[in-house]
Amino acid sequence: MCNHTHPAGATNEVVPGGFGRGFEAKAGQYITIVDLHGEQAGDFVALSLADLDEVLSPTHTRRTNRSIYFRKGDCLISSENRPMFEVVEDTVGIHDANVPACDPTRYAVDFGVPGHRNCLENMYEPLKRYGIDILQVPEPFNFFQNGPVSEDGKMGVTDPISRAGDYLVLKALMDVACALSPCPQDIIPGNGLVVTDMRYVVTDSAPTAHDLEAFKCR
Ligand SMILES: [Zn+2]
Repeated sequence: MCNHTHPAGATNEVVPGGFGRGFEAKAGQYITIVDLHGEQAGDFVALSLADLDEVLSPTHTRRTNRSIYFRKGDCLISSENRPMFEVVEDTVGIHDANVPACDPTRYAVDFGVPGHRNCLENMYEPLKRYGIDILQVPEPFNFFQNGPVSEDGKMGVTDPISRAGDYLVLKALMDVACALSPCPQDIIPGNGLVVTDMRYVVTDSAPTAHDLEAFKCR
């Protein structure tokens, strides 16, 4: 039963599984991303509103954190080598920062399914309003995506370990335009073979335990 109240003034939206949404956050605001049903990867990109050429960069983040993973307390770094987000909370701890967003070629070339919905176009759609080209949609962080890397360097593809209600909280360290795409991959493991909804919420202060219970409501 979902009768929790959401914080006043929050930007709060359920993103339908397989589709994309865009939103903005100001420096100092918090972005909570909730896997509402579990086992759902969500591709995420961000651009600085002050300079759209400065983008969230998994590559710079891996270098700064000296890890292919990030942890609570780490920062996610921009292409100008500046902290763009701080990871404030993370109930999962497994996210992918190694592979591109699924795009039309992923389905057409790898699976023989042209015209399949895909994260690249899902994220471009809401970012178009900033006047960027689809080629300027940056490399994503794939939140909750589970791409284990073994000791011999092999990269696996499997389902997320996230359960319904797991979440990630990021503090924006600059004004950003973001896009989130609960990945439409339904051909191979990656989303438990069932594509489901996610929620994002932008708040002025860190979400309380009460807020987080409200955000988990489907
Ligand atoms: Zn995808």
